[in-house]
Amino acid sequence: MSTTMSVEEALKRVLARCRPLEAEQTGLLDALGRVLVTDAYSDIDVAPFDNSAMDGYALRAVDCANASASEPVTLDVISHIAAGEHPTVAVGSRQAARIMTGAPIPPGADAVVMVEHTEGGDAGRSAGGTVRIMRAPVAGEHIRRRGEECKAGDLVLAAGEVIGPAGVGLLASTGHATVPVYRRPRVAVLSTGDELVEVAEFPGPGKIRNSNSYSIAAQVLSAGGVPLRYPIVRDDPAATREAFQRAAEESDFIVTSGGVSVGDFDYVKPVLEELGEMEFCRVAMRPGNPQTLGSIGGVPLFGLPGNPTSAYVGFELFVRPALRYMQGYGALDRPRQTARLAHDVTKKQDRRYYLRARVSVAVDGVREVALSGSQSSALLTAAHKGNCLLVLPEGEESFAAGSVVELIRLDMEEGIV
Ligand code: AMP
Ligand code: MG
Repeated sequence: MSTTMSVEEALKRVLARCRPLEAEQTGLLDALGRVLVTDAYSDIDVAPFDNSAMDGYALRAVDCANASASEPVTLDVISHIAAGEHPTVAVGSRQAARIMTGAPIPPGADAVVMVEHTEGGDAGRSAGGTVRIMRAPVAGEHIRRRGEECKAGDLVLAAGEVIGPAGVGLLASTGHATVPVYRRPRVAVLSTGDELVEVAEFPGPGKIRNSNSYSIAAQVLSAGGVPLRYPIVRDDPAATREAFQRAAEESDFIVTSGGVSVGDFDYVKPVLEELGEMEFCRVAMRPGNPQTLGSIGGVPLFGLPGNPTSAYVGFELFVRPALRYMQGYGALDRPRQTARLAHDVTKKQDRRYYLRARVSVAVDGVREVALSGSQSSALLTAAHKGNCLLVLPEGEESFAAGSVVELIRLDMEEGIV
């Protein structure tokens, strides 16, 4: 089947060929930014005990009910409690314990007065002596309660949540040295073309460097995948067949570049049809026909065009959401915004355009977007200089400076509002 379809329909079909991957147990830092597969519960109360929120004195609020700067209340200092200690001696009437932030509240005490509101206490480590309390505390003041964050058995992070730095901290405090997250997809990156030489080589006559292999691998990395860069695939059916078979055995997703046009040496489509299934090869968008979807032995294959910017945009629109879906992310769409167009833009009426552009805030405080360079699909500079795709709808031809247009932020992660 080989029909032209909308971007939305094409993406739907790409996702339909993908499944979230299985879980892998990973260390907490490797889990950063990834999606939790199963609910995580706490094995303890956090905090595990009532503790002081301040450096100061633990005491009985009732003893100091009338304390003030002009009429301080003097208490006997009976102990000195550092963080990490386990106080057992009770604070009695007209007594206080010097206490550090995070140290357990001793039995008998029901409030903490900050050291800044006391005088005459011994700042050293020893107990003994007296302290003058200059301020009346409220019962419970500066005490952080046991179980305030969560109780033993509570749900801490739910399945499907993205683990950020604060999530890592919560998982750590509740006993999760490792957690199950969706495995990263291994993504085979295959560049086809007899004109290609490796990047370290100096291109001879008629040759160009295989830059797509790197730009696509970089996009795989930034989508959370593990890129497997394969050697250049020559424009030859046997070489294409062999490379596709190997990639299907070794990867979870195959991305190809080039070789999908109607040129005389384009073998991606016929070999895909021979080894697996070819579902579509044209999407109503610019830049970037053809975009090809299929699979080999159940492994999805997306064929990007060879033109660097067509490949870049095609990856953003179809491959990145697929790789995120495989990693369990709920948010698959980059943030969309509207902005004021900085200058006139014209296009052909037929297709939807995805132009490389830069959005910024103009002097009047309004978000404004301008093309970031030449829109030739062979050139990458505008994509490098840009931070968004300016989306111009099918059916319209001209857009005047000042009109409101839609854009997709490429510098913001999916799920940002
Ligand atoms: P194709 O889709 O194979 O017809 O290639 C379209 C254009 O993209 C041609 O100008 C190619 O030279 C160029 N191209 C193809 N593959 C790559 C690649 N891996 N890196 C950079 N440019 C490429
Ligand atoms: Mg080619």
